[in-house]
Amino acid sequence: MTAATHSTLFPQVPETADAVLDGLDPEQREVARALSGPVCVLAGAGTGKTRAITHRIAYGVRAGILQPASVLAVTFTNRAAGEMRGRLRQLGAGGVQARTFHSAALRQLQFFWPKAVGGDMPRLLERKIQLVADAAARCRVRLDRNELRDVTSEIEWAKVTQTVPADYPAAVAKSVRDAPRDPAEISQIYALYEQLKRDRSVIDFEDVLLLTVGILQDRHDIAEQIRRQYQHFVVDEYQDVSPLQQRLLDLWLGDRDNLCVVGDASQTIYSFTGATPDHLLNFRNRHPNATVVKLVRDYRSTPQVVHLANGLLSQARGRAAEHRLELISQRDPGPEPVYTEYADEPAEAEGTARRIRDLIAAGVPAGEIAVLYRINAQSEVYEQALADAGVPYQLRGAERFFERQEVREAGIALRGAARAGGNDSLLDDAEDLPAQVRAVLSTKNWSPQPPTGSGAARDRWESLAALVRLAEDFARAKPGATLSDLVAELDERAAAQHAPTVQGVTLASLHAAKGLEWDAVFLVGLTEGMMPITYAKTDEQVEEERRLLYVGVTRARVHLSLSWALSRAPGGRASRRPSRFLKGLRPGSGSLGSATAAAAGGIERGLAGGRRKPRGPVLCRVCGATLTEAGAMKLMRCEDCPSDMDEGLYERLRDWRSEQARELAQPAYCVFTDKTLMAIAERVPTTDGELSSISGVGIRKLDRFGADVLAICAGEEGGAGGDEV
Ligand code: ATP
Ligand code: MG
Repeated sequence: MTAATHSTLFPQVPETADAVLDGLDPEQREVARALSGPVCVLAGAGTGKTRAITHRIAYGVRAGILQPASVLAVTFTNRAAGEMRGRLRQLGAGGVQARTFHSAALRQLQFFWPKAVGGDMPRLLERKIQLVADAAARCRVRLDRNELRDVTSEIEWAKVTQTVPADYPAAVAKSVRDAPRDPAEISQIYALYEQLKRDRSVIDFEDVLLLTVGILQDRHDIAEQIRRQYQHFVVDEYQDVSPLQQRLLDLWLGDRDNLCVVGDASQTIYSFTGATPDHLLNFRNRHPNATVVKLVRDYRSTPQVVHLANGLLSQARGRAAEHRLELISQRDPGPEPVYTEYADEPAEAEGTARRIRDLIAAGVPAGEIAVLYRINAQSEVYEQALADAGVPYQLRGAERFFERQEVREAGIALRGAARAGGNDSLLDDAEDLPAQVRAVLSTKNWSPQPPTGSGAARDRWESLAALVRLAEDFARAKPGATLSDLVAELDERAAAQHAPTVQGVTLASLHAAKGLEWDAVFLVGLTEGMMPITYAKTDEQVEEERRLLYVGVTRARVHLSLSWALSRAPGGRASRRPSRFLKGLRPGSGSLGSATAAAAGGIERGLAGGRRKPRGPVLCRVCGATLTEAGAMKLMRCEDCPSDMDEGLYERLRDWRSEQARELAQPAYCVFTDKTLMAIAERVPTTDGELSSISGVGIRKLDRFGADVLAICAGEEGGAGGDEV
């Protein structure tokens, strides 16, 4: 990800085709110049594969060798496709299609449906999660947000491996993987999900690929029409191509061979969906005349990060490992990776949040920091800890910015205002472009002050806030730009799907981090059972986990932190062990002992330095049960146990928080989370000591807000922050 400064959001377009090549090294240039015939780039992380192919396309287009409309670039995530479109646009080749396999297939399916099937294509389900929730509810199964995501991934897995609901339990057993819940239950939810889809006449993303392949196989006339349109194909992250996607690619190509693929077998992380790096590694067998290029210079990461990445891969086994390439860092040296052992998970999250705050204070933008974990369920404790530390964050999955309803509506409102020009009284008082945008958005009930709490309302607010920031960047880059200019820019970006970067620390799973990069990366929860994940049983599955960690390590440009916790909950038994993959790499972990580890001066202890006292288990104040969930621990009672909260006090605290958030121009959760406010309203502290014993109230918050909060708790209206009497 790139920082959202106007210099990177609005860079200069290279003046000539040759100027496009200037940004490449000799091997990358070879890739860019090989514009016909099969091309295969085998290279490690951060060596500029994605850069080489975007420059290749841009060079071809700018030199007049490739027709923009005849090129189809495919990659694996919307985010990556969006990045690619953004980069192409910056290189002056905006007209090229860069899509995921799914979105390319969808477009073709929509276009050819009337001819191939007749009638209207069923509506495409944008998100499965609601339908899965409905299906679960009908099965009388209650799932929280993370469980819903996990069950949804299981359904996706079943579909890409072409497993029908009835076969799911057997397929899971055969695949030697553990389902996140009882397989029979998932199978039932899956069956109902498929049923609901039919009832509501919708199709999902997996159906799109299956149906498109079906049509292209059966209808030669349609296949020919598509082949006439697209002459050149480029595939990023080719190591993760699934058999179904490869089939689609073959159908697109027909008997031609203008195909350029790039990938890194060491980053194969989707074998569980049937993907295999064999297509990448055997490319030359299939295309004997292929130009094969290897890249080894790592432009992304410091020698310290690269050393660790190489060390990790040197222990890898299997086919992908045989093809590994030793990376050579091109960057100046940076800090050593930091290894930290914590007593428990909340301590790990708090320690991570503290480090992140320090980095931000030292000048690293929040948007250049990521916390990466193995499974989505790990996010909550980090969301909580970052919120407590007052650090803005975003969960990954925020792609398709311009397709969000609120962004589309805002676009319509902005267009209307631009058309009305100076005649719109709304804009009378607005002096500059950002002020005009804020004024227009205020008609959509948007205010510069974020709503309290999280959830859909805040997501909506964040999207519109991102639009305002985009307007600010645009106005800075193009002084004197009008609302109409901005609307034109937004249209172009919407067409290019180039979403503005949302500022905030990224929380993402390792899988979702593929292809991306940040200045600082925190790899958390690196214990046996999580990394490798318990359900990785076979050697191949364990190797895939190692590659996943490799993907994580290689996302970092400069700062890399690796941590684990010895027990789940405070006071729990320290039964966990650090990941086996760190053996020989982390300090004091055996014979391979690296210079990196020695130089790092050993493992840091999250509890050392007296910054945080070891805690005993947290018990529910109402029923006495041991608490394990972050939210419950904060409230010091089970979430279901009756609350003795003073509702009036809670409301007064919330009002006060809105006021603070407005003044600080930060989301409300950065002041205190809902859970912390509830805990305050339940316990009604009267002293600094009592207040600071509430989880979420650290020293910094005590200094800043303590007097206010105690005054409100003591019944003194307003608190020190308010201006009114
Ligand atoms: P991954 O395997 O993680 O997908 P990649 O091989 O696709 O990585 P890129 O994302 O293209 O690598 O490049 C990594 C970083 O290095 C980017 O910030 C890119 O701009 C930079 N980079 C690549 N090549 C060069 C170059 N020749 N000169 C300067 N910077 C470069
Ligand atoms: Mg890449």
